Amino acid sequence: MSAPRKALPVINPARCTGCGWCVAVCGPHVLHLQVQAGHKRSVLASEAGCTGCALCAVRCPFDAIEMQRRPAGAPITGE
Ligand code: SF4
Ligand code: SF4
Repeated sequence: MSAPRKALPVINPARCTGCGWCVAVCGPHVLHLQVQAGHKRSVLASEAGCTGCALCAVRCPFDAIEMQRRPAGAPITGE
């Protein structure tokens, strides 16, 4: 049997301004703002907690979030 798949948000750090809109709309509160290289950016803190609802991607005013479908438990980067 194949693993269940769901779409997870992938945040483009070059486009993310750290505005926090995605954090505000995420029901399960799995997006957090983190300071990276002196800039606030959104990061997915828990893949397991993300429902794949895509509200964050829809809400982002800067088009920084892309929903990508992957097997549960697969790494978020590394392609
Ligand atoms: S809404 Fe978009 S730009 Fe704003 S913090 Fe989230 S990913 Fe970054
Ligand atoms: S897809 Fe939904 S649950 Fe997952 S991080 Fe975005 S808003 Fe939160």
